[in-house]
Amino acid sequence: MSTPKGKLIIFSAPSGSGKSTLVQYLLTQVPGFAFSISATSRGPRGAEKDGVDYYFLSLKEFQQRVAEEAFLEWEEVYPGQCYGTLKSEVEKSWEDGNAVGFDIDVVGGKNLKAHFGDQALALFIQAPSIEELERRLVARGTDSPEKIKLRIEKASWEMNQSEYFDHIIINDDLDRAKAEAKKLLVDFLAK
Ligand code: 5GP
Repeated sequence: MSTPKGKLIIFSAPSGSGKSTLVQYLLTQVPGFAFSISATSRGPRGAEKDGVDYYFLSLKEFQQRVAEEAFLEWEEVYPGQCYGTLKSEVEKSWEDGNAVGFDIDVVGGKNLKAHFGDQALALFIQAPSIEELERRLVARGTDSPEKIKLRIEKASWEMNQSEYFDHIIINDDLDRAKAEAKKLLVDFLAK
């Protein structure tokens, strides 16, 4: 079996698709798999912690890191809210002998897959429908109605981008989605 060093697993999905729950599950289940903590210029939401969920930066600090070329990729995912993958996170995982996972928006996921090719497994997590996504975002209770509207608009576009990914996981049944993601990940790491 080859070592997972140098491998990437991309999890892309519209906001509210349950991607973070799946990634957290896989981290406890699959050895040799670590997670890249992104930087963002948005503020913490709910119980989110700096250095755990994200590195929370001011917009100025974020722009400074862009100028220093600290990011493998970055994007203004929502107006005024930037998110980026730090090169240092990826290098750290690979040095530890782990494959590295990303929770990243659809544009970022497509870019990383195009860049890394077969070195990357690109998974698209699909919520059953836009109505269900909206219901989940409202139930989560962490975003304002305007933010939810923006997320839904973006999700409608993102739902049509799944063809650029290696696999689509439909998250209508969480246990089934967890098992499917685990199998894909284990098979990919064993290649
Ligand atoms: P949220 O604000 O809900 O945590 O994330 C919003 C969106 O930004 C999600 O689609 C999430 O996957 C994406 N995102 C998180 N980190 C990154 C990153 O490093 N790069 C890119 N391009 N998108 C990211």
